[in-house]
Amino acid sequence: MTSHKLALILCLLIVFSGYGQEKDFTSNLYSTYGKYKEPSLDKRRIKHNEIQPLINKLSANPKFKVTVVGKSIEGRNLSLISIGTGATDVFLWSQMHGDEPTATQAIFDIFNFLTSGDFKTEKENILKNLKLHFLPMLNPDGAEVYQRRNTLGIDINRDALALQSPEGRTLKRVRDSLDADFGFNLHDQSTYYNAERTDKPATISYLAPAFNYEKDINEVRANAMKVIVYMNKIIQKYAPGQVGRYNDDFEPRAFGDNIQKWGTSAILIESGGYKSDPEKQEIRKLNYVSILSAIYSIANGNYKNIPISDYDKIPENDRKLFDLKLNNLTYNLLGKNYTLDVGIHQLEIDGTSNKTYYNSSRVVDQGDLSTYYGYETLEGKGFSMVGGKVYPKILASTKEVSQLKPLDLLRSGFTYVRVENIPKGENYVTFPINIIGKDYKVPEFKMRVGVIPNFILQEKGKPRYAVINGFLIDLKSGEGNFKNALILR
Ligand SMILES: [Zn+2]
Repeated sequence: MTSHKLALILCLLIVFSGYGQEKDFTSNLYSTYGKYKEPSLDKRRIKHNEIQPLINKLSANPKFKVTVVGKSIEGRNLSLISIGTGATDVFLWSQMHGDEPTATQAIFDIFNFLTSGDFKTEKENILKNLKLHFLPMLNPDGAEVYQRRNTLGIDINRDALALQSPEGRTLKRVRDSLDADFGFNLHDQSTYYNAERTDKPATISYLAPAFNYEKDINEVRANAMKVIVYMNKIIQKYAPGQVGRYNDDFEPRAFGDNIQKWGTSAILIESGGYKSDPEKQEIRKLNYVSILSAIYSIANGNYKNIPISDYDKIPENDRKLFDLKLNNLTYNLLGKNYTLDVGIHQLEIDGTSNKTYYNSSRVVDQGDLSTYYGYETLEGKGFSMVGGKVYPKILASTKEVSQLKPLDLLRSGFTYVRVENIPKGENYVTFPINIIGKDYKVPEFKMRVGVIPNFILQEKGKPRYAVINGFLIDLKSGEGNFKNALILR
């Protein structure tokens, strides 16, 4: 063997063992996740007063440097949490949209990982090569009322030029003072996004934003693309096919686009939907695993060898998902039968403190929906949609209704029960039949975009399925992913 060949083999061995180590690190992160998951942040509607005590704990830890770098309009602290001694700065910020908390939760999981005594070698490697800077929950006022915009009513992600919001100004100031090499811009997206032309939800979507209208690729943007290709491979392992790529049209007012322009390799991560994961805790785990793996790859420089041509191979994001899709139902209108597909969104309505929610569903499309997909789909050929009936007796309370066996009422074609006394402020019940007030007039059954989906699916003239507040219930087995029916006054 020539020394040339030997050198080549040695080189390959080093590259592959590095790759092997990274792979092991990633799968270990995945399998041990439960140990680091921050238990106090287990629901999406988290508030600033829940993360502040966790930040205070980090202040007391000499490994971290915690600085209040700004305040929201309502005066909540914006904290920058830094760790590491390396020459490469990595800046991560989350929740500039108040109702997009998944990555904020993952950041606190990452803090638990960093403060633990485990993964010593990998952590040493990360912290001697990098300085990590986290700014979790950039829009705490929005989070307080679980809304996208800040208290000024603006979208902070369109404030990168005007800089009218203290939150946006803080982000700009911190970016400039760090002049970070990498920036992770962490968001949530609608759960109705899918990977183009597939029924797979876009559980994670990526973008290396353009810095000009020409969508040029310089080294700064190319590095962001390489890290995205790396993270995509990881997500594919745990959620195959469930990754989307955002359209890279230049948006001159957005932070991601400008941060790329200002010289920080900007990586947008959007957490979308995942079947049967309404609180997005599996997605939070995927954030934790993929972000930490990306950080490790940046620390050891391995991402540099990734070809950017793989970036364009990630399928584009599309928005073609329904929570429930009913195919080929028979609908009778003015004595004639028509075939309709029906698409339903199970929308969330916040409780008064914005800490809880219930669902109030709507028909969002009907007709030929053959290019759309559902988290849940029913092949409805041979089923006729008919309106539900009102139970003939008026009951005293919702409690009495629950004692009636609502499933049996549905089997007899009833979808509403009238109740004498409905407690103030109550909007839903957790059993599968709608409650109506004394004077409520049930609208004539008409399938239309915008209506609340309440109807019976008959097979040969007999109730076979019920759709109550947009949730499908199998009347034979009694099964379904039912969450709540509505109280209508
Ligand atoms: Zn967002």
